[in-house]
Amino acid sequence: MKISDIIFSQYLSERERKAATKQIAESEERGCDRVECEYRKTRLELKWLRKIRDYLNELFAELAIVGRTNLKNEQVHFFPKEEFDEVTGKGAGIVTAVYNLETDLSIYADKETVEEIAANPKLLLFLMVLHEAVHSEQYHKFFAFKEENCGKNRLTFEAHRLGYFNQNIEENDFNSHEHFRGFNEAITQRTVLKIIKKHSAELIGFFKIRDKEKLKEYLEEDAAEYSDEIAVVDKIAETLARKNKETKKAVWQRFAKGSFTGRMMHLREIEKTFGAGSLRVLAAMQSGIKPPIINSKNYAKSSTKILRFFSLSDQREKDKIALEILNQRERFAYLQRKREAEK
Ligand SMILES: [Zn+2]
Repeated sequence: MKISDIIFSQYLSERERKAATKQIAESEERGCDRVECEYRKTRLELKWLRKIRDYLNELFAELAIVGRTNLKNEQVHFFPKEEFDEVTGKGAGIVTAVYNLETDLSIYADKETVEEIAANPKLLLFLMVLHEAVHSEQYHKFFAFKEENCGKNRLTFEAHRLGYFNQNIEENDFNSHEHFRGFNEAITQRTVLKIIKKHSAELIGFFKIRDKEKLKEYLEEDAAEYSDEIAVVDKIAETLARKNKETKKAVWQRFAKGSFTGRMMHLREIEKTFGAGSLRVLAAMQSGIKPPIINSKNYAKSSTKILRFFSLSDQREKDKIALEILNQRERFAYLQRKREAEK
């Protein structure tokens, strides 16, 4: 059901545009090819992959999104540690699953590391694949352009958007920057948690878990992931719900739906409710935070401050937080947005 758009460089001819479209479609097929060294999937894994499809289809129905998932078993690859590191270019043992938006739109997971670190490896592998599977269904936008390589022009593409997450890509501009990473992850992980809650009885059976309490324990181990970002979005949802006289669930569903349809206009109500520049602060979560905060690998600290930003009503206090955490580029954008609003 994935919705995809392509924007073309103005330098591409009609023929090249067609070729680029084909290239993107083919990359998706390539993602289903067997990769050397990948583990063969167990019967249990094949069974829960089928379930993930059912859960996603149920979610689409709930959100009134037309269409069904076309996630394929072959699109999901499980690897030993070293091979995972090699195929993804990520440090093994740090990131354990990825959705390869930049290359072949497949899902890679480091099964060996999961088996080493998790209290319930089978469950954790499922949770990670479910998270990446939600990403794989989110709105996609690509930018197709010609890249100069050894004096030759090569047709290529780059991911421009995934759900709300977007990166500004310009030809020959290596200073591309991004927005809404933290927001999109919060929406994604919250969606995963909702699915698990709804199907907990079934999952307890699948993964031979003693009872609901034990499942909760396992989930708490994994819950640290994006919980600070979810708290920020929850605060926003709560405030909007009160203001619009709707339920918090309705707001969350609107946010979730937008990640699949690509519609972002509804986010303007955040700016209207929380003041000029507030959307820049939300967009900067995990995307436009000051380097010292990024370097400490401690986004949590900045997300806690963003939560405070959305909880306060004193504008001077809010400005102080924004200027403290935003990187130079976003700080400039924040101040400009405020000046525009004052006009
Ligand atoms: Zn994610």
